[in-house]
Amino acid sequence: MLIFRQLFDGQSSTYTYLLADARTREAVLIDPVFEQVRREVALIEELGLRLRLTIETHVHADHITGAWLLRRRLGSRIAVSARSGAGGADILFDDGDRLAFGDRHLEVMATPGHTAGCSSFVLDDRSAAFTGDCLLIRGCGRTDFQQGDPRAMYRSVHERLFSLPDECLVYPAHDYRGSTVTSVGEEKLFNPRLGGDIGEADFAGYMRNLGLAHPNRIDVAVPANLRCGEPEDAAADLAEPDWAPLTYTYAGLWEVQPQWLEEHHAEVQIVDVREAAEFDGILGHIEGAVLVPLGELKARAAALDKARPVVTVCRSGARSAQAAVLLEKEGFPRIANLAGGMLRWRAQRLPVEGTPG
Ligand code: FE
Repeated sequence: MLIFRQLFDGQSSTYTYLLADARTREAVLIDPVFEQVRREVALIEELGLRLRLTIETHVHADHITGAWLLRRRLGSRIAVSARSGAGGADILFDDGDRLAFGDRHLEVMATPGHTAGCSSFVLDDRSAAFTGDCLLIRGCGRTDFQQGDPRAMYRSVHERLFSLPDECLVYPAHDYRGSTVTSVGEEKLFNPRLGGDIGEADFAGYMRNLGLAHPNRIDVAVPANLRCGEPEDAAADLAEPDWAPLTYTYAGLWEVQPQWLEEHHAEVQIVDVREAAEFDGILGHIEGAVLVPLGELKARAAALDKARPVVTVCRSGARSAQAAVLLEKEGFPRIANLAGGMLRWRAQRLPVEGTPG
């Protein structure tokens, strides 16, 4: 069975695809985005997967790849086209190569046109193709920079991608209008640039007269992507909080484990956002915790110290997660949610105060 997730980067309208073999848990990521690496790592860990490869459809001009950062974080190998001109990769693939993950694989299909090194990846059972910036949903990538060639793109689409089964789903690298997926048959009929009876010369004329603006990140993104996303200063990384060993969740929250909090409770502000009756109820509360019920938190946030890290606490970790989001909006720079709340704290037999009788 295949595990499949489509992820989106709103800044560049890029789709990143996570594919994994459910049996072996081996995974690949197609076109990861540098700024989304933390989210992708959290998802991979929550699903219990091992990232084997990051795979680039091409050298992007609109965002920086997360390939280098993922290799550093998870030990994945970087795969790029041998025709891309990118350096620093572990695997240089070419047309017809197989990129395996567990019992599954993607087959490389060279689809130049947007760039000379553009590749599409066809799933082993031909049920899906990842087409990068070659074939988009009712569109295609531009061909006016980075060795772009409209005639090559026309042939990539007509001779290669349109030879796949009509039912084959097409997942592009971008969409700017909210569409997520299409199919080969659908694009043959309805793609306004490449479908129907449109010929190579019609297409080339169309593409030469698009009059698009220069992409605003090209001067930064292309050189960085030619290094597979390695920052100029290789020591630079996504800033991670260093005040505690925090875990980032796919839901977008930082969490701290009960054992750490038990050992460091004097160094942080513990904000318990339950109601007063719960604070002094059966579960009790953590030594030094301040009671600020969630409904009062916004009004009382100013009384908390922004210079000290805050750990939010509730019964199960749900209200305190909301509290952490609220405090972040109020400008608190260091916040974490107590994972599992007082229930997990008590399950781990950690000490409490204030229990009745
Ligand atoms: Fe592109």
